[in-house]
Amino acid sequence: MNAFKFLLKKSPKSSTLTKLYYEEGSSFFQQKKYVEALISYNKCLVHAKSNPVDLANGFTGRSAVYFVMKNFEKCLQNIKLAREQNILENDMRLDDREARCKEYLKIETKDTECTYKLSNAPNPRIPFLVSGLELSQNDKFGRYIKTSRDLRPGEVIAIEEPSLRFIDLKANIFYKYRRCFNCFKSNELNLLPGSHEVMTCSQTCYDSIKDRDFDSEALIEGDLSWKVLKMIQLKNKSLAVAGDIDSLTNHYYSPTKTIFNFDFNSLPLNETKKVLLKCTVSLIGGTTGRTDDNVDAFKHLIGSYSNQRREFLVTFVEHMMNVCQKTQFSLNTFDESLGQWVKVGNCLLPFGGLLNHSCDPNVFWISLDGKFVFIVTKPIKADEQLFICYRKTFLREGLTERRKSLLAQYGFVCDCEACHGNYGMGKTEETPDDNLGSEQFTDIESIDAEVARNWEQIETKFGKESPHRIAGMIAKNKFLLEIARSKIILHVS
Ligand SMILES: [Zn+2]
Ligand SMILES: [Zn+2]
Repeated sequence: MNAFKFLLKKSPKSSTLTKLYYEEGSSFFQQKKYVEALISYNKCLVHAKSNPVDLANGFTGRSAVYFVMKNFEKCLQNIKLAREQNILENDMRLDDREARCKEYLKIETKDTECTYKLSNAPNPRIPFLVSGLELSQNDKFGRYIKTSRDLRPGEVIAIEEPSLRFIDLKANIFYKYRRCFNCFKSNELNLLPGSHEVMTCSQTCYDSIKDRDFDSEALIEGDLSWKVLKMIQLKNKSLAVAGDIDSLTNHYYSPTKTIFNFDFNSLPLNETKKVLLKCTVSLIGGTTGRTDDNVDAFKHLIGSYSNQRREFLVTFVEHMMNVCQKTQFSLNTFDESLGQWVKVGNCLLPFGGLLNHSCDPNVFWISLDGKFVFIVTKPIKADEQLFICYRKTFLREGLTERRKSLLAQYGFVCDCEACHGNYGMGKTEETPDDNLGSEQFTDIESIDAEVARNWEQIETKFGKESPHRIAGMIAKNKFLLEIARSKIILHVS
């Protein structure tokens, strides 16, 4: 079975389809189904490709939806895109909409972007981390992150974008008209059509995928596992960042580096990406690759390179597969139609990947439209280590099961506070109900207020209440923050 051939095809230029999707969009719009209307207009744009009339229609349609959604900035962006097609002379409707947008923008603005900010001054060399985080090393943990000052529950200590993302192409089938193919940001469905049947959220994302070797990703013959596809993506994406195979070789063989070795404020943008790749490659030390069928299949799909270069690419990709296995984060998105978060792929984080595991961690992360926000969950004293949880916390998994699964995937016997202290799995009354609160909290402000109250409670009760009670409160806050963010992404009134 050839499963991949249909996932990434060049967008067919079909005026019949374009018309159909445009009419579908207008019909949804009249029914006040705004999310659906935007998706239909996006389909119209993808299929319109080079026809300016169809493109202008798609953008005009979207501008109407954003207008009633009171998203005036996005409305103006779409009016501009429609006008750029150079076919709309004296369109009264658009002129009127534009003028009204500008009027409204004077009186109300909606902040729909990532509302997180670092809780403290940023590191002078690393703008996405707070100052005071340091890299340290010892025999037990190898490299680890510690803090040079006391941290309080609720502090945002890092907002990081992945250096490499691997989007499950199956997920892309469902989300290709709703998410950026490069970073998976929804951008509230305000996306740009590309050469293939995918959309991007910005010119930067458009540029970073335009040289991707889509054909080799799409035209994989036979019944291959997703692992092979991931290997191909690893090769293509790393090559795209490095520029060519020689500079990729230099990244791979250069001495181990972490983000703490660089001054990101003085790097130009294209250098930043290369440096982040270098740090990602160095997330784990040199390990021997695991030879299996996937590697053999990958070897056949490398492309035409000299033997030496082919060998390098195999070694590199095997190394990166190990980096993924040990340090990858899951990439989640909020599905508007399902009303829940779904996993759509994996990604690598040069900072996040340096954090060690604990089944009773003092930091958690939430992923928000492509960005990862790291938040302190318990009081951390100066000089103490920061931990995240790689799998499930002790609250949700018993000692034997969690030790077993950690050993299988990460190769260590967990000796964290919870495992050392033999913490058993939480009881139902300690784990928050997954459905709690979704109706109770209707707006972001009230969720944020509740979360802030809980952080204060945790700070007061830490060390006095049982670890189970504290972990339950932390889990509740994570849940509330994820609901709040899903509301930001949706933002449909
Ligand atoms: Zn993007
Ligand atoms: Zn543990």
